[in-house]
Amino acid sequence: MPELPEVEVTRLSFADAIAGAKVLSVCLGKALRWPLGCATTQLVGRTVLAVRRRGKYLLIDLDHGLLLLHLGMSGSVRFAKQLPPAGVHDHFEMLTTHGILRLNDPRRFGAVVYADSEDAPEARKLLGKLGMEPLSDDFEVKQFYAGLKRRKAAIKQVLLAGDVVVGVGNIYASEALFLAGIRPTLSAARLTRPRVAKLHAAIQDVLQRAVAKGGSTLRDFSSASGENGYFQLDAMVYGREGQACRVCGTPIKSLRQGQRSTFYCPNCQKA
Ligand SMILES: [Zn+2]
Repeated sequence: MPELPEVEVTRLSFADAIAGAKVLSVCLGKALRWPLGCATTQLVGRTVLAVRRRGKYLLIDLDHGLLLLHLGMSGSVRFAKQLPPAGVHDHFEMLTTHGILRLNDPRRFGAVVYADSEDAPEARKLLGKLGMEPLSDDFEVKQFYAGLKRRKAAIKQVLLAGDVVVGVGNIYASEALFLAGIRPTLSAARLTRPRVAKLHAAIQDVLQRAVAKGGSTLRDFSSASGENGYFQLDAMVYGREGQACRVCGTPIKSLRQGQRSTFYCPNCQKA
């Protein structure tokens, strides 16, 4: 499943190239998770101003309104001057003066949704409950601590829920908790301020490194399923059950939390 770093890498791969492009036509394939919400002809003639990201949504700003694009479970975006004819899994295509933007999504859990503005109900429904953006300046230790203080659930679960901080998926949550030396089952509310500060830094570190790694393998990304993520290749704990901790040599353990696998080092993450 594409996680925040993959979405950010996707954004970086076409944001500059599409900026300033005029929409010539829009073509839809099979139904995606949510309908576009406007007639495709309504988008013709509009200009793409920029591509931003909020959580796992790409926000394609137009001179009037915006498109919210989500990759779902299996989506990937391509943007190029020319592309081969659309295939059976290409369900959104926008021809512009700078090239073709195409969403390929075999499982169709992704979507492209139009909204008149970020405050319009269609946009608020998708973006309204998102927590702080981990790679932006508004992700501050003080607010992160306050947000966690209100939550009794296990810290790993709270990170995955996305309402305190957004986009910290399963792999990245396990890795960040390891780096911060925090046991994934610990109640979020019990974390002290210094430990929250450590976790805050670890989350940014893990996500930034993943974006950098994705960026360096961009060519492969569009064809990647996104299932594993490049970051797993040198993970400290994720997917390493029974293997020696890279720091202390203790065998890595795994457990299930809310139907998701969590990996941790019982020695480096004592509590
Ligand atoms: Zn260890």
